[in-house]
Amino acid sequence: MADQTLARYVNERRILTQLRLQGPMSRAALARRLGLTPATITNLVENLTAGSLLIEKPAAREDGARRDVGRPGVDIALNPKGGYFLGAEIGVGVVRFALLDLALGVVDSRTARLIQPIEPEAVVAAIAAYARGLKPLRAIGITVPGLVRSDGHVVHLPMLGWKDLNFRALAEKALSAPVLVENNAHAAAFGEIYTQPGLQADTIIYLKLGAGCGGAAIVNGRLIRGAGGTGNEFGHLRIRPAGPVCSCGRQGCLETFVNMAALDRFYRPSEAFDVDSLSALPAMVAAAASDGDAEAVGAIEELAGHLATGLTSLANIFNPSTIVLGGAMRPVLSACLDRLSQAVCAGIVPGMTRPQLQLSTLGEMECAIGAATIAHHQAFDVSNIEIGNGRALL
Ligand SMILES: [Zn+2]
Repeated sequence: MADQTLARYVNERRILTQLRLQGPMSRAALARRLGLTPATITNLVENLTAGSLLIEKPAAREDGARRDVGRPGVDIALNPKGGYFLGAEIGVGVVRFALLDLALGVVDSRTARLIQPIEPEAVVAAIAAYARGLKPLRAIGITVPGLVRSDGHVVHLPMLGWKDLNFRALAEKALSAPVLVENNAHAAAFGEIYTQPGLQADTIIYLKLGAGCGGAAIVNGRLIRGAGGTGNEFGHLRIRPAGPVCSCGRQGCLETFVNMAALDRFYRPSEAFDVDSLSALPAMVAAAASDGDAEAVGAIEELAGHLATGLTSLANIFNPSTIVLGGAMRPVLSACLDRLSQAVCAGIVPGMTRPQLQLSTLGEMECAIGAATIAHHQAFDVSNIEIGNGRALL
């Protein structure tokens, strides 16, 4: 890339990112914030507008700092229709879709049921059917519930029976846009942070608790993926020397003390729920606890104790500003958030900054929305010149 082209590429992405994080603003404000001359901004904005990525709109308000002397107030904004980013979460028997526009608005979300066992080709066909007619579709993010490398090669998905599969290559053959494949907890975490500009310059730990326990660490707006992209397996922190056998084959993992099966074990051990009704358990136990049911209160306390042990270790390792908890266990997590917070703050190394604990906000579609935000970020990311294959998505 020639120097001048490189400078244009970088500055265009700086403009797009500034508008994504700060909202619409005047050309003069953009020039001030980015340290560029008004003439350069005018030129770049013209180019981005011609490419349908930016639009002009009347300024929402005028104040001393924002007024362009002699002109009516005009702001520059991302053009929502300038590009779409599709997120698809592959689950057990379902594919959840979320469609984001260029301005990060969720314009559609839906769930498609698939006949089990789900074959990779059937999933790709379902995504292709959804994507048909979406224009301009800039990129597609797909999440899988298990180990996937950063090149999109699925290592192992016990829940779906997939193993050693170059899923990204398979998907890109059938889809008309670039494909990114990510672990579902990584995507949910990234979506949570990416949609909250206030969290993006920090160190954030995310735990997704449900049938399993996935995790992610995000530092300065970037996922820490590990050497091959398969890091952040926080559910397999060993917190006890023994315990139930974990999905990884070992004993004593955090996951086996904080997932839905653990809640089932702690709450009325003699009445085990079957796998199908397990997903209703967190809301049921949380409701019973709020009604004063001693067994439910005890189950939540036991689970919270184990979770606090794991979170304290993570806080000591990462020194996060925020720990976000999400997933199907959310009702139970909501019921014990204060207790968890107190236990973690009391347990970390004295003098260390106390992390803020909060619940995730994206709900059931968190993985699909997260997958779409990963695709969105890839398009806006200046560093794509140096990493990956350097493809410009915008
Ligand atoms: Zn394990």
